[in-house]
Amino acid sequence: MTGELLRGSLLERTVRQSGCPKCARGEGHEVYVLTVSYAGGRVRQFSVRRERVAEVRRWLDNYQQLKEAIEAICELNHDLLRPEGAVARGGRKKRD
Ligand SMILES: [Zn+2]
Repeated sequence: MTGELLRGSLLERTVRQSGCPKCARGEGHEVYVLTVSYAGGRVRQFSVRRERVAEVRRWLDNYQQLKEAIEAICELNHDLLRPEGAVARGGRKKRD
């Protein structure tokens, strides 16, 4: 576990500024934004420099993989919640 985790979505946007010749031609500049939503509908946005996009994608991917692993464990653990009769094993243990 390395801690290289990020939750959210990486979006690509085009921004245009007045006074920039490139933008005047309609090209604009591509920027990357990490959007993170929280319970209650709050959303935070972080701009991501181009050099870090690959890294951010990797960290987002790590998060998804870890989340899937946690979900799989939780699904297995549902078996532990079954009533004793459903487990179909021998006699119950005595407690002190
Ligand atoms: Zn521009």
